[in-house]
Amino acid sequence: MQKIPNICPCGSNQTYSICCGKFHKGKLHAPTAEALMRSRYSAYVLDIPQYIYRTWDKDTRPTLQSLRESNTETFISLEILSSTGGGLNDTKGTVEFIATFKVDNKSFKHHENSSFRQVNNRWVYVNPI
Ligand SMILES: [Zn+2]
Repeated sequence: MQKIPNICPCGSNQTYSICCGKFHKGKLHAPTAEALMRSRYSAYVLDIPQYIYRTWDKDTRPTLQSLRESNTETFISLEILSSTGGGLNDTKGTVEFIATFKVDNKSFKHHENSSFRQVNNRWVYVNPI
């Protein structure tokens, strides 16, 4: 895990500890699909594979070991484009986003519309649609 930043990497302009940090600690669960999406992005930035693993649907997630080994990107920014459902009273939701990252000093954009579902009152990432 990298040094804890002041400002949250998810682009909210909030302090990390009151934004995604409280979800990474495991004391609170992200209340919406979009909040979960942001906290998962921050976990990629800060290299917290355990969080990515435990917020990934158990039917679609890779192994924790492969998540630990795959973090070779440097994430630059997250832009949320749109979302559907994913609220407090929903069981499903989607979040469309663009994540900008670098590999070997080359810039890439990952554009994805992700699906999420709520299992036992916790949002989990399912897969790209
Ligand atoms: Zn955040």
